[in-house]
Amino acid sequence: MITRERREEQAFNTPGRELHKTNRNSLVPVLILVLSTVVVLFSSCANGKMDKKNKAQLEAVDRICHDNILFDSHIDWPYRVTQHPEDISGRTLNGDFDFVRAQEGGLNAALTVAYVQSGFDVDKGRGVVDSTLNMVKYYAGKYPDRFAPASSPGDIRENFDNNLLSLPVGLENGSPIGDDLGYLEYLKDNGIVYITLCHNRVNNLSDSNFDEERRWNGLSPFGIEVIREMNRLGLMIDISHSTDSTVYQALRYSVAPVVATHSSCRVFTPGMERNLPDTLIKAIAAKKGVVMVNFGSYFLEQECMGNWLYLINQWSDSTGIEAFSPGWIDFMIEYGKTHRLRSNAAKVADHIDHIVNLAGIDFVGIGSDFDGIDHAQPVDLPDVSGYPALVSELLKRGYSEDDLRKIMSENFLRVWTDVLSVSHDLMQKQ
Ligand SMILES: [Zn+2]
Repeated sequence: MITRERREEQAFNTPGRELHKTNRNSLVPVLILVLSTVVVLFSSCANGKMDKKNKAQLEAVDRICHDNILFDSHIDWPYRVTQHPEDISGRTLNGDFDFVRAQEGGLNAALTVAYVQSGFDVDKGRGVVDSTLNMVKYYAGKYPDRFAPASSPGDIRENFDNNLLSLPVGLENGSPIGDDLGYLEYLKDNGIVYITLCHNRVNNLSDSNFDEERRWNGLSPFGIEVIREMNRLGLMIDISHSTDSTVYQALRYSVAPVVATHSSCRVFTPGMERNLPDTLIKAIAAKKGVVMVNFGSYFLEQECMGNWLYLINQWSDSTGIEAFSPGWIDFMIEYGKTHRLRSNAAKVADHIDHIVNLAGIDFVGIGSDFDGIDHAQPVDLPDVSGYPALVSELLKRGYSEDDLRKIMSENFLRVWTDVLSVSHDLMQKQ
């Protein structure tokens, strides 16, 4: 059987999840291999083989990850846990996120995504929102010494000071709004912090960059009203998944900065509209927004993208073996031995460098898309325990601790603060 999302992928000739959230049990051996490599790499210090410089670097990375807030603006753990229940308060066998690995990676705030599939109707979408909010309530209630909700930058800082992992919630896909602006107030009141305007299909707010149908040539008239109401309420506008025209229009109509919570740079993947072109990166920065880099290997490298496209489209179609089915995964693992499917932290750093060179240090952050990029995580950044590999790479490239602090959280927190400040001003004028 072909799932709805699989059909979307076929229709739009795009590579798999992001798009395709699926069971990753069969990836476990690969992950173990990768993790073992990382462990060997780091434990060589204990063996006395690491020279002094490398030891000092490891200590610096460890200290920077420990002393500063690390905020990841897009983690799809609720969807994964819904599909394959596991308790994230301990170490889980599957997926990219749990409390133990978050601790290992220095993660302090995991933006928890309420992901609404494009085919869901309004009621079903609202059900996803409520169940996601309930999951956060459940974990924060049952493990008050580990997790805490967060609906403002102040909450993130307070939770960090109290050694708690923040779980702010974002809505990926504005479709549950339906045609009811009032629902935005419900979202705000219940702690939603951002809304991704659309997912992989056009909805009644905006066009989507994975959908050939360009119904609105950007935002719909209702989408413009939604933007204005989000400004008023202090909800961040997320333009990941939007078409270029939609992004330009969101920038024009929003009086607050906008964010791309999980998008990378199109210059490295020409033709892939899901990543942002230089002009839009500059435009988002000019409006004081932020681009949060996605870790999916097909977002990072054209070669990975080509190989994933082959697996998902040509190979799957020619064999009749459904993409992400067990047989397909077996072949994918074999194919991956001779073809590049997984990128690395250095390539993530290349995207960060590119944004910094284009726009400056104040407009970039981390939006891994963990638990939404199955099988395509960077080899040395396989899950939330891996952020130190990226911090290490950036340190090597000469980023200062101040720079790293901005990338790790402060840029996103600044935008969030600005969005709340704009909301406050608009409310005062009413
Ligand atoms: Zn997404």
